[in-house]
Amino acid sequence: MALRLYDTAHKTVMDLELGEHVGMYVCGITPYDATHLGHAATYLAYDLIIRRLEDAGHTVTLVRNYTDVDDSILPKAAELGEHYLSLAEKEIARFEADMAALGARPPAHEPRATRSIDAMVTMIATLLDAGHAYICADRVLFDVSTFPEFGKLSGYGADRMVELAAERGGTPDDRSQRNPLDFVLWQASAPGEPSWPSPFGPGRPGWHIECSAMSHAALGETIDIHGGGSDLVFPHHECEIAQSETIHRAPLARYWVHAGLVSYRGHKMSKSLGNLVFISDLRARIDPRAIRLALMAHHYRTEWEWFDSEGLAAQRDLATLVGAAAGASPAAGSNVGTGGLLAAMRAVLDDDLDAPAARSALLEAAAAAERGAAGATLRGELAAAAQLCGIDLSRPAGRVS
Ligand code: ZN
Repeated sequence: MALRLYDTAHKTVMDLELGEHVGMYVCGITPYDATHLGHAATYLAYDLIIRRLEDAGHTVTLVRNYTDVDDSILPKAAELGEHYLSLAEKEIARFEADMAALGARPPAHEPRATRSIDAMVTMIATLLDAGHAYICADRVLFDVSTFPEFGKLSGYGADRMVELAAERGGTPDDRSQRNPLDFVLWQASAPGEPSWPSPFGPGRPGWHIECSAMSHAALGETIDIHGGGSDLVFPHHECEIAQSETIHRAPLARYWVHAGLVSYRGHKMSKSLGNLVFISDLRARIDPRAIRLALMAHHYRTEWEWFDSEGLAAQRDLATLVGAAAGASPAAGSNVGTGGLLAAMRAVLDDDLDAPAARSALLEAAAAAERGAAGATLRGELAAAAQLCGIDLSRPAGRVS
């Protein structure tokens, strides 16, 4: 059975028809603050997809960018009195340390926006030449009226898009624009902001063109799976589609897979509300494998709330799993073949990445192993099944940092 995932564009769970090699692009972080649990939940969901695809015999090229110039990092760097690239460097190092601790596969490519400006300028020039973009005061805007399919990913009507654009960095009320939903491709830099030369004046790119340029450079015109948090569906991914498909006359992605957002203390985790749970704080207290296990309790595309008690409960669950798998190595487990546990794990992961069911299967197998129900075979299979989910049971459970 093929892996089935919910596709945002088709609004249904679909069989993924994939070749031997899979190209995946996942929108990365703006490196201006530490990694929080919402980031971890998103990136570990794609990591689990990759692990299952590799388990099924595919090779996967993951590309995850760093948005090291945008409307978030520049004010933060100014507030800190720090150069924006040194802030980015520091936060990228922290993010990578967190991701490595969580056992996430490193991407094949991690393009940075500031190193891809030439490709963005080329794309914007192409859009201007073809009449899909226009210069409006000190900005270059994409003219959405030239892309009649605008909105096809989200399925939102014009009113909803205008509402969200206003909330998420757009300027729908600006009367100088041709259409309320026109979005920035290039803009003049404010005093103190970085600026690059271009045929349409010095300035800096808009956020959306950054991902169109970086994904094209790394994966070509059509990506197999494009991912990101569900808050990126509109406007970010809708705008990526408009730009890229206008230029390349090919679908930007075959499948669109989005991860749900995480709440804490009653509200969506957000920097502005200050209700962030940082991975670095969490892994000072609990084993990063337990963080991974805790996140598996929540389906990737639901919106859910984190409670502090989940971390400690997962720590106990991890100790149970490690104890049950004691003496077995993942290598031994993989020789078990078509044992029931591994087959069951693969089946639930293939069913729209049902990590909560996979987690339950692991814990039930651990309970059975503890009862001595199946002996060394089940212990080996448990280790292999946990490994499939990125959890190495060969080390004792404990705090790592
Ligand atoms: Zn992006």
